[in-house]
Amino acid sequence: MINPFLESCVMCPRECGANRYQRRGYCQAGAELEINLAQLHFGEEPPISGSRGSGTIFFCHCNLRCIYCQNYQISIKGYGREISQAQAIEIMLFLQEQGAHNINLVTPSHYALQLVEILTKAKEQGLKIPVLYNSSAYDKVEMLKVLEDVVDIYLPDYKYHHAVYAKKYSHAPDYPQVAQKAISEMIRQKGFLQLDSEGIATKGVLVRHLVLPNMLSGSRAALQMLASDYGTKIPISLMGQYYPTYDAHHYPELDRGITEKEYQKALDVIYDLGLDCVYIQELSSDDSWTPDFLCNNAANND
Ligand code: SF4
Repeated sequence: MINPFLESCVMCPRECGANRYQRRGYCQAGAELEINLAQLHFGEEPPISGSRGSGTIFFCHCNLRCIYCQNYQISIKGYGREISQAQAIEIMLFLQEQGAHNINLVTPSHYALQLVEILTKAKEQGLKIPVLYNSSAYDKVEMLKVLEDVVDIYLPDYKYHHAVYAKKYSHAPDYPQVAQKAISEMIRQKGFLQLDSEGIATKGVLVRHLVLPNMLSGSRAALQMLASDYGTKIPISLMGQYYPTYDAHHYPELDRGITEKEYQKALDVIYDLGLDCVYIQELSSDDSWTPDFLCNNAANND
């Protein structure tokens, strides 16, 4: 059935107006869902992956398209397959049967409307585990309001605090403003991340911030803004896993991993601000970042 909203798509802040039944817009997504992979994932933060894994669905395409995207084969090149709504529901129910703690929708912003319908039906058909919306935060508040009843946990990035870098690396100078409004709406809906007695996330918001080389994500100002707007209990995941990939080799300032000193600088800001619900990553001995997270404090605001 034709969805009139997809005939002139303004689902995300790009508002490119593509008729997704006939051509692909900025995000390169058509009208039907395309996914690369659906599997239990153990590399997310401890309350998300838990012991049984996060039921992760990686969607193809992206409305942000950063020049250093770590998942560029899926988000930019679009490697994957089209699935029907019924297949999407089957996948979610299968992941639940496998023991997943949650359904983790990775890069979902350009499919938000389709997902509302799918998740509503999946819940009617027995989906009980929390649904997690794992986005870049380049989301419109109107769309987040539509998602309110079907999403339990938001895992937004806060990628840049400065428009100049959002423009240069993601062609989105409005990113800081858009993301701040999106995160504010997410927190209004769900509050901070809440954990059950076993430390597994049940509801709420956990904000991710990726430290970029040369501090180009504006870590100091970004963390200051989060602490000042939401207080020191806001759950934050400080990510240090950046490595140059996709088009980053054309940008000398981004053509390397981050140094321990740079990550430590961001950590110092966290300590200075007194942020105490923070998941951090450790640099392993072979210079790659481990997927394991530590938490300074239980991210439970019960
Ligand atoms: S979701 Fe895609 S098609 Fe729709 S407005 Fe955004 S970029 Fe354009």
